[in-house]
Amino acid sequence: MDLNEQNEARRDRLVRATAADGAVRCMAAVTTNTVAEATRRHQTSNTAAAALGRTLTGALLLGSGLKELDRLTVQIVCDGAIGGITAEANAEGTVRGYVRNPEADAALNAQGKFDVRGIIGNGMFYVTYESGYEVGLYREPYRGAVPITSGEIAEDFAYYLTKSEQLPSAVSLGVLVRANAEGEAFVDAAGGLIVQIMPGADERIIRRIEESVSQTPHATKLIREGATPADMLRVALGAIDFEVIEERPVRFACSCSRERAVSLISSIDRNEMEAMLREDRGAAMTCHFCNETYRIDEAELQSILEEVRG
Ligand code: ZN
Repeated sequence: MDLNEQNEARRDRLVRATAADGAVRCMAAVTTNTVAEATRRHQTSNTAAAALGRTLTGALLLGSGLKELDRLTVQIVCDGAIGGITAEANAEGTVRGYVRNPEADAALNAQGKFDVRGIIGNGMFYVTYESGYEVGLYREPYRGAVPITSGEIAEDFAYYLTKSEQLPSAVSLGVLVRANAEGEAFVDAAGGLIVQIMPGADERIIRRIEESVSQTPHATKLIREGATPADMLRVALGAIDFEVIEERPVRFACSCSRERAVSLISSIDRNEMEAMLREDRGAAMTCHFCNETYRIDEAELQSILEEVRG
């Protein structure tokens, strides 16, 4: 393998498929690099990394059928130490997101897993679909909401899909964080899958799928063993054949830029801008979604101010 091929092989991917003559819709993704990038940017604790990584992966899976110019936002508003999680996916297969308190952490639970539920607590789970938001073709968004019933996130996606979208779904989302030789935590595997039963599906198919999905090993175990998204679906669906509709790369990416930061600064109140110039000798803006900081120095802020003054 040359370097390009190696890079290609390491890229995160998502597969969307159907089975049983369209009675079953399913998608699976490997998101190890996406989650690693998010947790590096936000400097999350291990438990917060699991919570953010599961939510980002769920948003990518749920957003896999989006049309061009669509976007989907998953928002967890909760009273636990993490304070809230936001993940936004679009039709290009990119996702971005953040947690309110990246340092929130908890001891491992009784099963020896990250206690995600312990830092989430109670609250609401929202999914918002928006369309045409960047080209002035904005349509009324669709928003669904359910209470948080689990706090482990995969179960909350399943509950949302079943209750709010009336699509009974099995959801598996996982993030495996391990320590390297120096004792530093890193994301070793991340990914997940969703299997949905469409209205009118045959009872026997439903039972076979339920049985097969319930026996599927955890997503991160499969990914560590080298499974691709299609391999994950093969394991989850057992003897049921499926047809891949789409396979594509996915990644963490943010739409913020220095240009946008400057234009945002230009739109703030002139007195406030003068105060920034006087007191801070410049401005710094940090994007919530990707934690990138844009610094605007004294001279540049001065010239923006002059432009605004006309
Ligand atoms: Zn950003």
